[in-house]
Amino acid sequence: MIPDWAAERNRMVEKQLRRRGIRDERVLSAMLEIPREQFVPSESRLLAYSDDPIPIGHGQTISQPYMTALMAEALELRGPETVLEVGAGSGYAAAVLGRLAARAIAIEIVPQLAELARANLRRTGRDANVVVVDGDGSLGYPAAAPYDAISVAAGAPELPQALVRQLKDPGRLVIPVGERSDQELLVVTRRGGALDTRVATLCRFVPLRGGEGWK
Ligand code: SAH
Repeated sequence: MIPDWAAERNRMVEKQLRRRGIRDERVLSAMLEIPREQFVPSESRLLAYSDDPIPIGHGQTISQPYMTALMAEALELRGPETVLEVGAGSGYAAAVLGRLAARAIAIEIVPQLAELARANLRRTGRDANVVVVDGDGSLGYPAAAPYDAISVAAGAPELPQALVRQLKDPGRLVIPVGERSDQELLVVTRRGGALDTRVATLCRFVPLRGGEGWK
């Protein structure tokens, strides 16, 4: 039996997002629209709307829906922004960000996953304003900098200064920072030349690799 994916999406948005405090209607409607089942491996399709991260190969995971929503909401996107996502993985979060902003650039360090993200975005017709580039996103992506918003989907040992440098004023950066296996989700806001940092939640992301990541 083929699941009613629209109904699954609706249930996910109500139970996992709205009920837990995600309020931004643009984020909620983006997540009602993006077919998450198209971004998970075919053997995990029936789990696409479960309340967990899902393995996507190469030791990586597609983040839990709530985490994708929380990060997108923290960026306070209104539509005209250019967003950098570090850690494209399956391409799912990039698709969500692409729906909320004018342009999303997702950088991925594992070439096979960059290819997977591109294929998923193309197949779902989300590639018009979302591009996936290969590279070490712990150093940002200077070619398209500065960014109105940056979202990092892997945990860093410290706040990568390259990402702070590539953030516009005003601009927002959301990133897990802490230990290898558990972190704080930081929301860094630049406004009027000053940086403000708040902790959104505790979290558990895969490690950020690369120059400003874990060795
Ligand atoms: N946003 C993804 C989640 C991917 S998990 C999704 O929605 O599916 C985190 C991803 O970060 C992994 O794919 C991992 O390979 C990637 N990653 C880790 N370190 C990186 C780095 N320095 N630069 C770019 N990508 C990195």
